[in-house]
Amino acid sequence: MLQIEHIINGQKVTSETYFESVNPSTQEVIARVASGGKKEMDMAVAAAKAAFPAWSNTPAAERARLVRKFGDLIAQNVSKISEWESRDAGQVIAQTKKVLIPRAADNFYFFAEMCTHTDGHTYPTPTHLNYTLYHPVGVCALISPWNVPFMTATWKVAPCLAFGNTAVLKMSEFSPITANLLGELALEAGIPAGVLNVVHGFGAAAGEPLCQNPDVAAISFTGSTATGTRIVQGAGLKKFSMELGGKSPFVVFEDADFERALDAAIFMIFSNNGERCTAGSRILIQRSIYDRFAQAFSARAAKIKVGDAMDESTVVGPMISQDHLNKVRYYIRLGVDEGASLLTGGLDAPELPEHLTKGNFVRPTVFGNVNNKMRIAQEEIFGPVACLISFEDEADAVAIANDIAYGLSSYVWTENLGRAHRVAAQIEAGMCFVNSQNVRDLRQPFGGTKSSGTGREGGTWSFEVFLEPKNVCVSM
Ligand code: NAD
Repeated sequence: MLQIEHIINGQKVTSETYFESVNPSTQEVIARVASGGKKEMDMAVAAAKAAFPAWSNTPAAERARLVRKFGDLIAQNVSKISEWESRDAGQVIAQTKKVLIPRAADNFYFFAEMCTHTDGHTYPTPTHLNYTLYHPVGVCALISPWNVPFMTATWKVAPCLAFGNTAVLKMSEFSPITANLLGELALEAGIPAGVLNVVHGFGAAAGEPLCQNPDVAAISFTGSTATGTRIVQGAGLKKFSMELGGKSPFVVFEDADFERALDAAIFMIFSNNGERCTAGSRILIQRSIYDRFAQAFSARAAKIKVGDAMDESTVVGPMISQDHLNKVRYYIRLGVDEGASLLTGGLDAPELPEHLTKGNFVRPTVFGNVNNKMRIAQEEIFGPVACLISFEDEADAVAIANDIAYGLSSYVWTENLGRAHRVAAQIEAGMCFVNSQNVRDLRQPFGGTKSSGTGREGGTWSFEVFLEPKNVCVSM
């Protein structure tokens, strides 16, 4: 079994208590993990603070070289990282190995390039010259959830370090193993001790003292809306990037390319086990094609292979924990009670081999005839549960899409160009994909509005949290 310690100032640091990390496919205990608290967080923040002057003054080209090397080490270790990610977080190996971990390496390459172009602006007048300088902010708290944990963390670690900041990374207590690999690879890449510290632990015990530490200048958080709100309330004046929950509309008009829309709708709710912030979990279908779409969609969902995350042919793996499985099952029961039609899936356990019978599995589930006011349509289930909702026309589609507290992503399927642009403009969400599933371009602003968060990650949008602009005004 693995023994995982914190990495503080380049050293392994033990804790008084440890917790167990469990493989959600089998319930096998796979690691014993140091459980940090205020003491370890204070040590880590102090190490990051001490490392900041030298790292922030390291020429950008040299930081870029080290960050690129960090990416190379991830690329060289794709198999090892993918296997641990799938074993620890239950994300299926076909995705981790081919998509998620290779993309994590790309994040480092992207921000290594970008950190040499953090140029400011000039605003000359006849009497004065204004120019902006971008400074790193200092010590950053980077907090990640358990779904796609490695890649989510690299969206934070790569720009944070590349732009000259130092960091304390706290990964989810449900998926700590690959975070530790990040800490180890940073040191192997030659990134100085103290620049990236990794402390493990639970939310309230470890996350809160990190966020409330006065030496932390910025918090980049990805997780639930409830936790994000609590952090903002408790942390005091800091810079924030809050990537929170979602319940994104996937709108299919009658003139859409039916088969492509169907493929994308299946992918956007069932990939990553449905444990995906940008999941198209509310599928809005124009009434004239509703029956045909619902029938085709549920037939496809019924055939999806559920199983061991380590099996190359699995499409939907286990839920991260038994508590989370219970939450998903609660919503399936609720959907039936609320009067939605259970088209496929439900509470019966999927048929699985003996060694998986203790795993946290649930059948891909589809509810038809969902009313957008139902709780299954309004609340984030964060599992493989789709809600099919019919609409009459464009105005109705937009009204239903926006009748929700969240505003992370959105998807619009239509062959009518004008309608595509009109709906994209009216949907209240940080992102809108037209005739496309979620495709991440690292230059794009990733993030949400309303209860889905504040701030954006990606490209120059990452300046907002990880760099402080300063205006210099010179009289001529
Ligand atoms: P969570 O909010 O329970 O936990 C996220 C992280 O916050 C964990 O590391 C946890 O230990 C930590 N934490 C918990 N309480 C804390 C506190 N009081 N102070 C500081 N840290 C604390 O979320 P989760 O269940 O791990 O993740 C699922 C959620 O994340 C979903 O709502 C999902 O939509 C969201 N998510 C959002 C995005 C996005 O980009 N918008 C991406 C992935 C996941």
